[in-house]
Amino acid sequence: MNDRLIFQIPYLEKGKQILPTVPNEISSIEINIPDNLKRKKAPELPQISEPQLIRHYNKLSKKNFGVDTGFYPLGSCTMKYNPKINEEISRLENFVNIHPYQDEEDIQGALQLMYELDVLLCEITGMDKFTLQPSAGAHGELTGLFIIDAYHREKGNKRKNIIIPDSAHGTNPASVTMAGYNAVAVDSDENGKVDLKKLNELLDKETAGLMLTNPNTLGFFDENILKISKMVHDVGGLVYYDGANLNAIMTISKPRDMGFDIVHLNLHKTFSTPHGGGGPGSGPIGVTKELSKFLLIPTVELNNKGRYYLNYDKKDSIGKVKAFYGNFNVLIKAYSYILSLGAKGLKRASQLAVLNANYLKKHLSKYYHIPYPEICMHEFVISAIWQKEKGIRALDIAKRLMDFGFHPPTIYFPLIINEAIMIEPTETENKETLDMFIKAMIQIAKESDKNPEILKSAPHKTQIKRLDEAKAARDLILKYEYK
Ligand SMILES: *Cc1c(COP(=O)(O)O)cnc(C)c1O
Repeated sequence: MNDRLIFQIPYLEKGKQILPTVPNEISSIEINIPDNLKRKKAPELPQISEPQLIRHYNKLSKKNFGVDTGFYPLGSCTMKYNPKINEEISRLENFVNIHPYQDEEDIQGALQLMYELDVLLCEITGMDKFTLQPSAGAHGELTGLFIIDAYHREKGNKRKNIIIPDSAHGTNPASVTMAGYNAVAVDSDENGKVDLKKLNELLDKETAGLMLTNPNTLGFFDENILKISKMVHDVGGLVYYDGANLNAIMTISKPRDMGFDIVHLNLHKTFSTPHGGGGPGSGPIGVTKELSKFLLIPTVELNNKGRYYLNYDKKDSIGKVKAFYGNFNVLIKAYSYILSLGAKGLKRASQLAVLNANYLKKHLSKYYHIPYPEICMHEFVISAIWQKEKGIRALDIAKRLMDFGFHPPTIYFPLIINEAIMIEPTETENKETLDMFIKAMIQIAKESDKNPEILKSAPHKTQIKRLDEAKAARDLILKYEYK
């Protein structure tokens, strides 16, 4: 049977093809690889010893930069230090060795963890029920939009538009489009918040909902939030909270109290999973009681005998968006993070995140143009337009920061600010680190007057000097080097 699924590819050992041993249960499956797919020659893989291999990866790790190496003030994406205890706990043998097909009775602990994480996230956001299944923020957005769609369909009036502020994260319009809606942008006013007059003009009976980040990507908490959510509800729309970064408001204010119907959280940003370079992520969404019947299957429930179970019996559910129950390993870390900090600790983390951001913002304001100077939340945006007059761009400043041992901040986002540099120091950095960063930024501002060349050719001290931004990611040259 040549059309049979190829289920295991022969691997090579010293240039000779041998078949791997097939475990008993599956030995009856025929392994049938068409001749034209078989290798004629061994691949030319480097043959090296174990110490050589260890040294190779060790060397690579030292060329890299991470939050364990130094300060990482990347705005919008909350790249914060994730306490190692949460890693340890997620690696406990009994978590690592369970399988999603195991009997519910055997995995009561894992189910309990998911159930309780749901309860904790409800407590933090004010929502009534969560699903832990989506595997990223954008994935949660898409799931939330499907729920908005299900809600309107049930009412018999499928609507067309989702309104998004012009300062929104790029995934918002992308998810809206993927869910089959039109993304309609509402402008920000001169304070960087939603322009209520413009919003009013956009709202009508085609408005399915509004998607909002609060605090927004400029780092401001929109004090009109109750008015905004009421305006959307008044035309029959739902209000969706992009809670990818909850760092400024944990246990201080709840999205539900702001009038939101659906919330997604990025556990990999706020709740302790190192991310970047593609994952792993987790983007649970929480909803109000009214919307909970649409949530993904299965939900984790507790019966009256005190046993946890997976509930697939939900006729209004929008279905599944991922195999099984979510990125379980990320869920463990979030659970452990929340319990280890406690309500007080989470609040203190948010307070420090806000304090640190304002400390930096204040000290940089003499040297850089700050388009929206008032008190911010967890992040803020400066604009390099003063430096641009001297031919220095946000990119040059970001590159030069690497020479001082700092990861470059986010640049050219949000799009509504010219030469934007977006800074989020996070809660774990101490005053000494923040002062060193301020010192570097001041020196860079001075260099833009006196020595602009050093900025244009930066970085000078890194392993690899200035890269072509686009090509560096698209035309990778991968090689093995042993020197
Ligand atoms: C990071 C982020 C997202 C997207 O999350 P992913 O996990 O990268 O898909 C959405 N909105 C905001 C505000 C974000 O910061």
